[in-house]
Parts: sequence; structure tokens; C-alpha cells
Amino acid sequence: MERRTLLKAGLVLGVSLFAKAVGLLPVQAKESTDMKDTFEVIKTEEEWKKLLGEEQFQVLRKAHTEPPFKNKYFDNKAPGTYLCAGCELPLFSSKEKYDSGTGWPSFWKPIADDAVRTKTDYAMIFPRTEVHCRRCGGHQGHLFEDGPPPTGLRYCINSAALKFVPEQS
Ligand code: FE
Repeated sequence: MERRTLLKAGLVLGVSLFAKAVGLLPVQAKESTDMKDTFEVIKTEEEWKKLLGEEQFQVLRKAHTEPPFKNKYFDNKAPGTYLCAGCELPLFSSKEKYDSGTGWPSFWKPIADDAVRTKTDYAMIFPRTEVHCRRCGGHQGHLFEDGPPPTGLRYCINSAALKFVPEQS
């Protein structure tokens, strides 16, 4: 019995170290809210379904993840602003977008400190930091601590959750 407990403890430690190594542990310090919080833009599931396309609905309202490299903006280098595809709140700027090599649009910070909020997500075996729109609660993606300076953060965002508005020249 004792041996089994010891084995279990070893397994948990090993799994935790692995999770940390691959950047899957949540960014605790950044956690700011809970999905139970109220949002400025509130719609029923049926209303969201009508407003959004199927893919956008699955990502924004059901927290699905789109495939890497097969999405609209991962390789978009044009200057402009990325709005929430649900409520059009500006969330990210091309100025903070970088090529993370992951196949998803990646930013090292949001356009404003209060543009997005985070919560711990237990959808996978390991807890992750989920990122959502401050105004409508729409799921955007996840936050990791392996981004470039100066923040060291990587906002890994679904293209389907964004609407790109090119800069006026
Ligand atoms: Fe939104």
C-alpha cells in the first residue's frame, strides 16, 4: 500500500515537471476572473448561433480550438487591429503580433490591459490559462509563459475568434 502511494506521488511529480517543461501549467499570476462573472454583452446560445458562423460559434462560445496553420490570421503580417469576432471589442494589435511557429495568431500582449480576462481551464489533463474577451466572455485561446520579451507571454489565439481590421493608410 505504501509502495503504491509512493509510486503515485512519483507519477504526479513526473507529470507536473513534464507539464511545466512543455509550458502547460497555468499562468497563475495572470488570472483575473471567472466565467461566472457577468459580461456587458450577454446573449442566449440561440442568439449567438444566429450571429456567428458555425466555426466561430464553436470557438467563441464552446471553447473549441481551430486547427493550427489552417486558419485565417496565423501568418497575417498586415498592420491593423484584431477585434473580438463576437462583440468587436479591440483585443490585439499587429504591433504585438509575432511568429510563434505554433500555427495560431500569437501576441505578446493585448491591445489594452483590460481587453481580455483569464481563468484556469481544466479541459485538458493539465490546467491551462484560458483567455476570453472582457466584454462578451467569448473564448479567444490560451496564455502561456514562453513568449518573447518584454512580457515573456504568449497569447495563443484562434483566428475564428478574431476579426481583423487593416490599418487605414
Ligand atoms: Fe467580445
